[in-house]
Amino acid sequence: MYDISVVIPAYNEAESLPELCAWIRRVMQENHFSYEIVIVDDGSNDNTWQTIEHIAQIEPHLQAISFNRNYGKSAALHTGFQYAQGSVVITMDADLQDDPEEIPELYRMITHEGYDLVSGWKQKRQDPLSKTIPTKLYNAVTRWFSGIPLHDFNCGLKAYKQQVVKSIEVYGEMHRYIPVIAKSVGFKKIGEKKVKHHPRKYGHTKFGMERFLFGFLDLLSITFVTKFRKRPMHFFGGWGVLSFLIGFGIAFYLIANKVISIYQKEPYRNVTEQPLFYLALIAMIIGVQLFTAGFIGEMIITNSSKAQEYIVRKKIITSEKS
Ligand code: UDP
Ligand code: MG
Repeated sequence: MYDISVVIPAYNEAESLPELCAWIRRVMQENHFSYEIVIVDDGSNDNTWQTIEHIAQIEPHLQAISFNRNYGKSAALHTGFQYAQGSVVITMDADLQDDPEEIPELYRMITHEGYDLVSGWKQKRQDPLSKTIPTKLYNAVTRWFSGIPLHDFNCGLKAYKQQVVKSIEVYGEMHRYIPVIAKSVGFKKIGEKKVKHHPRKYGHTKFGMERFLFGFLDLLSITFVTKFRKRPMHFFGGWGVLSFLIGFGIAFYLIANKVISIYQKEPYRNVTEQPLFYLALIAMIIGVQLFTAGFIGEMIITNSSKAQEYIVRKKIITSEKS
């Protein structure tokens, strides 16, 4: 087993990759680490794959996977994680914004300080203000929701124990919340290291402003799913039954009132003329619907199979080469 696997998602990053791989190689050799580099070409339409093939000729420690289309950074990381064999797995962006010189210290924090996950913190972030200001807000919200005291959740540079990356499922756009996912499956020792961050040297960013809206929705679903993943019925069923009982109680009161009035020969109002009647009706209907949602949720989780499959068009696998 290698000391380190470096997992790199790359979408149209042909210019950066040769420099990045050479730099990683130098750092690894200087520190005497055994290593592999796992590049996931996320359906690039530039020369990324040709570049990777060139690198493979001079870099024996390279594995590479090329997706049939652009599935997104989360899918790329997820697949990279499945191939990674190192006892410590380090992710970094392909665009040379993350600094390979951070690798030895990240490795040490995992192996010697016992962290499950160490996240980079781009304290001096080299990106435009339009990105850095909303990011502060996003980090504050995520800290508050998750209870994890990180400054920079979405830093591409992170280190993990191998077991962590094999246990988590990163799909959709969930790469922004890997620490939250890791915590939800029980890896609670999460650390942080200030890391150097460089301006993008080649190409341009692959994410626009929509990242903040999607990011927030993803956070809601993570919080919700991790809380109620096991028993949707505990959430929906509880509120459903409560709502139904309230509605039923009110309806019972209205009808009882009418029956008593008839019995005592007093004047009475029709049940349907009383506003409370509509409240009772709505509460009962909502109650049944919530209960049904919980029930369907239960059926889905007991029958659902695992993550979606991504189609791989090409591969370079080290173990097959040797
Ligand atoms: N990336 C990817 N698939 C995508 C978008 C991005 O694999 O659909 C990779 C990209 O090549 C880079 C990393 O994710 O290695 C971070 O992307 P980018 O630098 O554009 O994000 P930013 O630094 O602007 O947050
Ligand atoms: Mg970048």
